[in-house]
Amino acid sequence: MSQDSNDFGGAPSARTRVRRGAPRARYDRDDVLGILDAGLIAHVGVTTGDGPLVLPMAYGRDDDWLYLHGAAANHLLNTGEGHEVCVTVTCLDGLVMARTPFHNSMNYRSVVVRGRATRILDEARRLYALKLITDHVVAHWDLVRPPSQSDLRKTMVLELPLAEASAKVRAGDPVDEPDDIAGPWWAGVVPITTRFDTPVPSSDLAGDGPPPAPITALAGRTPDERPSS
Ligand SMILES: Cc1cc2nc3c(=O)[nH]c(=O)nc-3n(C[C@H](O)[C@H](O)[C@H](O)COP(=O)(O)OP(=O)(O)OC[C@H]3O[C@@H](n4cnc5c(N)ncnc54)[C@H](O)[C@@H]3O)c2cc1C
Repeated sequence: MSQDSNDFGGAPSARTRVRRGAPRARYDRDDVLGILDAGLIAHVGVTTGDGPLVLPMAYGRDDDWLYLHGAAANHLLNTGEGHEVCVTVTCLDGLVMARTPFHNSMNYRSVVVRGRATRILDEARRLYALKLITDHVVAHWDLVRPPSQSDLRKTMVLELPLAEASAKVRAGDPVDEPDDIAGPWWAGVVPITTRFDTPVPSSDLAGDGPPPAPITALAGRTPDERPSS
């Protein structure tokens, strides 16, 4: 995630250089990490014996690594372990409606991370990664029952270096043909906002206490605005 110009136009590698819409590329570390922080789900792609497979998953991060977790028997994670994987996180910000469908677009912030996924075996590091994945969604790891040995046995955790990461950001108006601008067709942006609603207690909740503060704090906020751990 280097800003320096290099043989790859500022991208960390040839394969992560944004070629189409290059002005929308962001390779700056803060841009990449900011989009990862704003996102909630990753689409994780692996090459399986019977073809490519991309599945949605939760994730967590620190400054240098992206973390994924799942059941020990998880097919995608077991397939990806020790191999090249691709992880994509997208925040959708708006529909861009142009004067012709050819120029319709979407406003978005997305990150693509490519690299080799490795299984974390060290117990302390596994717990560290699981806390990051949990707290990435809502920072409440310290307020719930800690995982048991049995929970941990049933869970696998992969890490992927954030070294080869690119971001691409589109914002603003449609870009129409100059000759169409004076035409009768509407053009503009329909913003999209995801917002957390009031928490609903589980029907089998013991007691009537309020949710923990980090959960209560979500109500009315967008994913971008959720408090970090
Ligand atoms: C928002 C979200 C977050 C998730 N977070 C996690 C996570 O953090 N960890 C985790 O392990 N799982 C997560 N899942 C579930 C994940 O997408 C997979 O279903 C799960 O990991 C099982 O993977 P597998 O390779 O073992 O599936 P298998 O059951 O082996 O998959 C077999 C086939 O089932 C189909 N399939 C599998 N998953 C899906 C799906 N999600 N949607 C539609 N078809 C599917 C595909 O065709 C696939 O080839 C999440 C799902 C969603 C929607």
